[in-house]
Amino acid sequence: MPRPVSASVSVSALAHNLFVVRRRAAGTRVWAVVKAHAYGHGLPAAIRGFAAADGMALVEFDNARRLRALGWRGPILMLEGAFGPADVATAAELGLSLVVHDAGQVAWLRAHEGRSIDVWLKLNTGMNRLGVAPDEASALQQALAALPCVGKVSLMTHFADADRPGGAQAAIERFDRATGELSGSRSMANSAAIFDVPEAHRDWVRPGIVLYGASPFADRGASALGLRAAMTLRSELIAVQSLKAGDAVGYGSTFVADAPMRVGIVACGYADGYPRHAPTGTPIDVGGTRTRTVGRVSMDMLAVDLGPVSEAGVGTPVELWGERVPVDEVAASAGTVGYELLCAVAPRVPMYLVD
Ligand SMILES: *Cc1c(COP(=O)(O)O)cnc(C)c1O
Repeated sequence: MPRPVSASVSVSALAHNLFVVRRRAAGTRVWAVVKAHAYGHGLPAAIRGFAAADGMALVEFDNARRLRALGWRGPILMLEGAFGPADVATAAELGLSLVVHDAGQVAWLRAHEGRSIDVWLKLNTGMNRLGVAPDEASALQQALAALPCVGKVSLMTHFADADRPGGAQAAIERFDRATGELSGSRSMANSAAIFDVPEAHRDWVRPGIVLYGASPFADRGASALGLRAAMTLRSELIAVQSLKAGDAVGYGSTFVADAPMRVGIVACGYADGYPRHAPTGTPIDVGGTRTRTVGRVSMDMLAVDLGPVSEAGVGTPVELWGERVPVDEVAASAGTVGYELLCAVAPRVPMYLVD
């Protein structure tokens, strides 16, 4: 018997979420962001769920190669661009578009001979992570357009604060001031801006988290956005303990029963990607009923309160997150975001596609 933990990924949920994005940003083209193995869902799921996307965007060149091997023929955008001159050659070979966020990358393109490459010049509009200074954009755009090995030159930026009301405004103004006179397609909107900042939609949007059915907002869940959770992380109870008042469970004995209670032991722990920082009280579904974790999460196991599920026993199914328990709720309880949990599902967890 395999260990009972597994993750299923619903291809129809991925496709549904892409459809929701299309409705929110009607008339734009969509880069489906599939970095970090499609936010932990795997590239095979992404290829099927996002078959109707206009392009795929990611940061890993080996995974761009895999996308081509899996049959994706549409545009691919490398969001961090080339990490060295060899990546420029790979981009030409595989037909990848490259973000250009600094002058060194322009130099690698200048030295490149061969098939031409489409580029997206990235402006730093306040996040201060990647991007050229807005007042250098015009000169760099001209320099890029003059290179024989460069095809189309488009313009993009990335928001630090689109999940807060008004948080993208200053960045949009900086971008528009710097690029008003320039030609080329525009792209700015991440998931949060797709939902909340229509003026950022422009020519191409770049949804990530919402495609997987999780929310970019702290105060709005995925179902309120019309999204469906794509991944369900499941396991089973492999033991049941009856505690007396004063008995503890797990490492550190951080949870102590104040009355007699039954506790279920779930075959899932931090080595499967469940957050070790999830405290007592984190929501979890046991046999179709919502209950809570108790005590510390260990490497291969965690404990749950069987108070609300008196009929549960060894073999009862458990949903760690997914359709019933939003990953965002587990993340909030553990002091992180759904993004981190989805990306961190461990390689030892078997993943399979459904519908
Ligand atoms: C990851 C990423 C996105 C997607 O962000 P979400 O918040 O998941 O929608 C968009 N653009 C860039 C440049 C990114 O790195």
